[in-house]
Amino acid sequence: MQLRYRYRLEPTPKQQAALACAFGCARVVFNDALAAREQARRDAKPYIDDAELSKALTRAKGTTERTWLSDVSAVVLQQALADLNTAYRNFFHSLSGKRRGPRMGPPRFRSRRDTRQTIRFTRNARFAITPGGRLRLPKIGELRVRWSRNLPGEPSSVTVILDSTGRYFASFVVDVESNPLPHTDTEVGIDLGLSSFAVLSDGTTIANPRFLRNAERRLAKAQKSLSRKEKGSKNREKARIRVAKVHARVSDARRDFAHQLSTKIVRENQAIYLEDLCVAALAHTRLAKSVHDASWSLFTTMLTEKAARYGRDIVRIDRWFPSTRMCSACGTVDTAKPLAIRSWDCSRCGTSHDRDLNAARNILAAGRAERLNASHAGGRHSTGVGGAHVRPHPGVAAREEAGTHRSHASTCA
Ligand SMILES: [Zn+2]
Repeated sequence: MQLRYRYRLEPTPKQQAALACAFGCARVVFNDALAAREQARRDAKPYIDDAELSKALTRAKGTTERTWLSDVSAVVLQQALADLNTAYRNFFHSLSGKRRGPRMGPPRFRSRRDTRQTIRFTRNARFAITPGGRLRLPKIGELRVRWSRNLPGEPSSVTVILDSTGRYFASFVVDVESNPLPHTDTEVGIDLGLSSFAVLSDGTTIANPRFLRNAERRLAKAQKSLSRKEKGSKNREKARIRVAKVHARVSDARRDFAHQLSTKIVRENQAIYLEDLCVAALAHTRLAKSVHDASWSLFTTMLTEKAARYGRDIVRIDRWFPSTRMCSACGTVDTAKPLAIRSWDCSRCGTSHDRDLNAARNILAAGRAERLNASHAGGRHSTGVGGAHVRPHPGVAAREEAGTHRSHASTCA
């Protein structure tokens, strides 16, 4: 399985200039190819295929206007085309229903103003980690890396990222052996809490970390200040960087939090049951909604990766499952429970429920039933240990409902 490992880079000013050039070249190649496909579409000509784009790139390098493309590793340029092709594929698959999840928009032109600039080097590019622990990139140099943790193996690619606050990162993709933890009988259902981050079926409440509580307020303040600055002014640029820095701090804190929590849950449980994100999103508190969404999705991504790596099962529960209003004691489906209702008594058996804990217990029960079904059907469970899987929800639901969708295709790693 493939995992990503991300580290801060500390390029020298000269290396920064070379990187800026590479970002620019990758952007131009991406945009040229996108423009060519768009033009073909407008002219009602056939779709330009990947091989044809690649040939066009080779031709472009021979022209006087694009000769500077040769200053950059050819792999970086090919990877820019690969990004575009992936974005198109995702878009087509999303249109045809072959791709699950939020509807993807068509690829968009890249801009030097984008909040992230990225280039990718694959093994063909002969990037290397030097004996001194630097990252050697062709035509850029040997960059200093802050190795915050060990790379567990030989990376197959590295993406260099420049974020909106001017920080550089290297994101390595590494093939990792799955490494099952000793079996445990404990299982857990997780419900995304209303006033907390999550509630577990064993009754544990995971509080919203402080950054979630404060982030929205800080962001709102920084954004308000940004909106008051005159367009194009120096002060506006400063305010923009301030907003970006708040974002960056929040995302670092979110990453730490998600790492810690996902590690703990994967260690302690053999099977983990979650509600699908789209359902969870419906139940969200209005406060810090976007921040909360992003944290939840990062957390579930990490949980999924770690479960696969450590031989645990993850089952996602179908989005129409009435986890909130079903009594976890007797199974009666009660009346609808508006968000304001934090606790309720079952109309049939009289059990008092905390809203979130009841939901987490229902998720646990539904997840167990699904997992049992899967193992009886003999499907993906027959491989035994290490065969962690993610069960797709049946995928019938209206995707527009949850309102947490990205309308554009993300093009780079
Ligand atoms: Zn009941």
